[in-house]
Amino acid sequence: MARSRPCGVCSKWFRPNLRQGNRQHTCGGPGCRREWHRRACARWHAKNPDYDPHTRLVNRLVKDAPPNPRGRQSDPLATINWALARDEIGLKISVLIEETGKVLLQWVRDAIPA
Ligand SMILES: [Zn+2]
Repeated sequence: MARSRPCGVCSKWFRPNLRQGNRQHTCGGPGCRREWHRRACARWHAKNPDYDPHTRLVNRLVKDAPPNPRGRQSDPLATINWALARDEIGLKISVLIEETGKVLLQWVRDAIPA
């Protein structure tokens, strides 16, 4: 039988479940279990900083803008890797997003007086 121990979150003493034994770290209260899980996830992400699918996809999708001698970026849509976007989300949706971007870019350019 596992011995009583303090909860890793609230420090309240508890007797671990027989089946969990030494693997149980909290008193079993829903708030304590949620907090322990949150801490475990934080530890895991600190140990595995490269495993973030969202950030990895953003880093692969957004590329460096082509150099422009005037210093300003001439085509912001050129910073997106559209071929990769097509592979990730499909042809129709990526074309819709790309064309929407072009329409909005043209609208902004027309709105700015020369
Ligand atoms: Zn607790």
